[in-house]
Amino acid sequence: MSSPSETFEFQAEARQLLDLMIHSVYSNKDIFLRELISNSSDALDKRRFEAVQRPELLPEGTELHIFIAADKEKRTLIVCDNGIGMSREEVKELIGTIAKSGSRAFLERVRQGKDKAGTPDLIGQFGVGFYSTFMAADRVTLLTRRAGEEHATAWESSGDGTYTLREAERTEPGTSVTLHLKPSDTEDALHDYADEWTIRRIVKQYSDFVAYPIQMDIEHTNDKGEKSVERETLNSMKAIWIRDKSEVSEDEHHEFYKHISHDWNEPLFRIQAKIEGTLEYRLLLYIPSKAPFDLYYRDAARRGVHLYVKRVFIMDDCKELLPDYLRFVHGVVDSEDLSLNISRELLQQNRQIMRMNKGIVGKVLASLKELRDNEAEKFATFWREFGRVLKEGLFQDRDNREVLLDLVLFASTQDPVQPTSLDGYVDRMKPDQQAIYYMTGETRAQVENSPHLEAFRAKGYEVLILTDPVDEVWSQSVFEFKGKKLASVGKGAVDLGSEDEKKQAEEERKEKQQEFGPLLDCIKDKLSEHVKEVRLSSRLTESAACLVTDEHDLSPQLEQMMKAMGQAVPAVKRILEINPRHPILERLHGIHERAQDDPALADYAQLLYGQAVLAEGGQLPNPAAFSKLLAALMVKTL
Ligand code: ADP
Repeated sequence: MSSPSETFEFQAEARQLLDLMIHSVYSNKDIFLRELISNSSDALDKRRFEAVQRPELLPEGTELHIFIAADKEKRTLIVCDNGIGMSREEVKELIGTIAKSGSRAFLERVRQGKDKAGTPDLIGQFGVGFYSTFMAADRVTLLTRRAGEEHATAWESSGDGTYTLREAERTEPGTSVTLHLKPSDTEDALHDYADEWTIRRIVKQYSDFVAYPIQMDIEHTNDKGEKSVERETLNSMKAIWIRDKSEVSEDEHHEFYKHISHDWNEPLFRIQAKIEGTLEYRLLLYIPSKAPFDLYYRDAARRGVHLYVKRVFIMDDCKELLPDYLRFVHGVVDSEDLSLNISRELLQQNRQIMRMNKGIVGKVLASLKELRDNEAEKFATFWREFGRVLKEGLFQDRDNREVLLDLVLFASTQDPVQPTSLDGYVDRMKPDQQAIYYMTGETRAQVENSPHLEAFRAKGYEVLILTDPVDEVWSQSVFEFKGKKLASVGKGAVDLGSEDEKKQAEEERKEKQQEFGPLLDCIKDKLSEHVKEVRLSSRLTESAACLVTDEHDLSPQLEQMMKAMGQAVPAVKRILEINPRHPILERLHGIHERAQDDPALADYAQLLYGQAVLAEGGQLPNPAAFSKLLAALMVKTL
């Protein structure tokens, strides 16, 4: 009856992950059972969900459940469910490979830090699920049949880099996983996974709230020594978000969070609410304590928010309930009003869902505000892990822009370590300061050393340092905070100081403009390939020159980002600003006055431009030509 088996190799990433598991970077082996139960519970959810459209997948009277059987003599443990099951192709795809984007890079990071204590933490972010069975077993078999299909598939592996597949029989749809336990586990009764009490303990501790019965056949012996077997349900199945808040312990919350998120770390904080009125729903949401490694991969498989209707699971990862910029939130929303038959397609235009989305976003943002006001340290952790994602909301969610601007934190020239809120910045603004100033760039050092900051520093003005790629994007559409202008120090003209000071500066500039006009025209002429204007600067106090972007042009970083994304962007020419008080400019002025056609002027113009590019951390258009010019100049002066 058994068909021949075929051997396959695990994909390289899967093998690495298995390796990490077997050499047990994770000290708590018990969790493999939690992982198997979670997978079973998900599979049961899926079977019920698919059966909404295809009732034949779930014949009437089928009781969805998880069944555990242990055999002390054979040293086996079986976890079995009658969930959706997997086809042969699905087994290959889901168990033999790791399809998560970025997993290769992630594993490389884990591997490099292999001997460091951080590894379990990193692995926890990955959530290795099924592979954790190899912490407790030296051989694992899986027998599965997809609901709606006739044939079953048997998978087997010793975790050594290969697995086998063969066609098999299974009377019902679902999956059974059999662990051939490692001998070492008998030594410690608490962690003997073939022992009834170990299993009871783990189920109670990690999976009590699972919505399906987790059953086991228990042998009883009566007074007369007669044996009988009784099927017992080990978990209470109580939905955690329905229970009285005071009744649910922190540990229970943690385990529930791990169950729905597949994250192995504890959550940072939770948001729980019961909304009443025209729409009634409960929510229990969790914010992770660590960002998952694939947070920035567009196609990452997320679990997000699970939608329930009157305690019945409808679907996981209900994207309609939360915007993209809150994609790190996990949890449950349980509606009293929606129809039990709602499908993914119907969700998109459902008015109730849209209103719930608004309510949930409001609740999450209000909770973040509360966290900031009452638990600064936790908020700092939140910001470190998810701040970058939250900032996406500044351009995605116009309705909540004010609330988000109130929450966001920025690095600033004021403090090398602690980020500041915009309110904090405004409080520190100088009396004559007209705007909230920021500068975007790749690193803090690059921004701090950039010549653009000179005049601001001289004035004692604080400048926000924006180094996340997303900053380039939102800053294109946010121009104000509580009536104060937001202005880039690298864009447009700057006029600093009081009205009087500005007037005086303007007069001085006019005078200098008269004097330097012909030289500016000459430099512009020599650099016409690179810049659209050459003008006197009010930004510079020490440097000779810098490049600025015209008020409404793309910043060079954004231009680069858009190019990297394959978008056609017109080449943006910038403005070269020069400092008339700098000795270089004084000398150039002298040369130009003596002989307007001095060939050295062209070389110096190129050097001046190249220097401005380098000072802001940019890339020279022609490094070889620049270095040749520099060398020639050195020869001349040495
Ligand atoms: P994760 O659960 O984090 O996705 P796993 O390695 O635990 O990672 O499982 C990989 C995939 O295999 C699951 O996402 C699911 O699609 C499938 N799978 C695992 N266990 C079962 C099961 N008992 N029934 C059906 N599918 C399963």
